[in-house]
Amino acid sequence: MTLVMKFGGTSVGSAEAMERTAGLVRRSLETWPQVVVVASAMNGITDLLLQGARTAAAGQATYQELAQTLQERHHQAIEGLLPAGEERERLAAEIDRFVDRFAALCRAVLVLGELTPRALDAISSMGEQMSIRILAAHLRYLGQPAEAVDASELVVTDNNFQSATPLMGQTTAQTEARLRPLLARGAVPVVTGFIGATVSRVTTTLGRGGSDYSAAILGQALQAKEVWIWTDVDGVMTADPRLVAEARTIPVLSYREVAELAYYGAKVLHPKTIRPCVENNIPLRIKNTFNPNHPGTVIVPEVGESNGKIKAVTAIKKLSLITIEGKGMIGVPGIAARTFGAVARGRVSVLLITQASSEQSICFTVPEEVSDPIVAGLEEEFAVELRRRDIDRVWAERPVAIITVVGAGMRGTPGIAGRLFSAVGQAGVNIIAIAQGSSECSVSMVVAEPDTAAAEKAIHSLIVNGD
Ligand code: ASP
Ligand code: MG
Repeated sequence: MTLVMKFGGTSVGSAEAMERTAGLVRRSLETWPQVVVVASAMNGITDLLLQGARTAAAGQATYQELAQTLQERHHQAIEGLLPAGEERERLAAEIDRFVDRFAALCRAVLVLGELTPRALDAISSMGEQMSIRILAAHLRYLGQPAEAVDASELVVTDNNFQSATPLMGQTTAQTEARLRPLLARGAVPVVTGFIGATVSRVTTTLGRGGSDYSAAILGQALQAKEVWIWTDVDGVMTADPRLVAEARTIPVLSYREVAELAYYGAKVLHPKTIRPCVENNIPLRIKNTFNPNHPGTVIVPEVGESNGKIKAVTAIKKLSLITIEGKGMIGVPGIAARTFGAVARGRVSVLLITQASSEQSICFTVPEEVSDPIVAGLEEEFAVELRRRDIDRVWAERPVAIITVVGAGMRGTPGIAGRLFSAVGQAGVNIIAIAQGSSECSVSMVVAEPDTAAAEKAIHSLIVNGD
């Protein structure tokens, strides 16, 4: 029975945090015979590494100062976690080698004046390589056998640097071969999140925030019983607690609900991240390192309808609602195709689309910063129709927000939409457009951005009231 536990940047962000994390690892070993730990870089370190690389490419030697910070953060952790002695010296020297390597790579980037995705991965992957060595050493100091393992030995990926995809066959074989013997002798492998390597052993990364993905990948490779993601909040919340004071943890969510929440801007796991767990029916638990007795949220393949109808409300701000309208659009095929063709050429992803039959209009949302170029692109695409007055105008309403209500139990439950809209109406918020997710487990509405908090609160009162 294997448990994979991932600890994010704040859970390994200081000596104190790592101590707490080590405590959680040891506690988990009381109930789980085999535990694999996946760790992120100390919080802020990946950003620091990337900053060093990027400024070097722009001709600035910022990395010299950053290298110092890098060294200080890790040395401080080591000093807080290990007593003075041989092991501490050895580890500090190892950290120094990484710091030197960071500076050397940045210097190379500066000289070349070029930063390839491959070089970015070589540089940005160093944070995890340092954090796991410290955590593993601390576990050993506590008497728990542990070994730092670079995921470049386990996770085989394609060579799409910066956003690599694992090749699961080879990954499974290598993970089994490398980790099983460790687990069999009661040691805890402490594995880098975020990182993989190509077939020819060149380091890749899985994309920002990729450590969650690493945990799910290892969960699949080892056929883990569960995967736990340790973070700094009590699981997935019913709303953004900064906007809604009554927000609370959602105990159980389905994979689909998570996907919908992530798509509509909630800070939850990326759907790609959890796919290895989804496909292998591995429950995924989100827990708080700083409040470990809280059960957190468990993400399971399906939830029954009894499990609450409206589960969560989320919002995306800084959007623009673009509308194309005109009487000459009636029954003319191809308008929608041409509209979204023009948007796609701008490489912009559309979050929500509605078409009103009476008004002869199509509207959709895009990020506010691309609003002007998209409107210009559409005016160009429909120049002829605009001249002929088949299309009256293309215009943007901004800033707007999309408020999305998620809950698989809303499917096939009549009256929910009505209750939602009247709650929002009673809060004095005007709804500009509405769309129901094709999955039927979400309903979205567009409101003026200043109304976001009022709309979220009004909807959240329905969750609190037991819907
Ligand atoms: N350290 C990486 C990042 O900051 C990966 C992770 O934290 O999940 O993106
Ligand atoms: Mg993270």
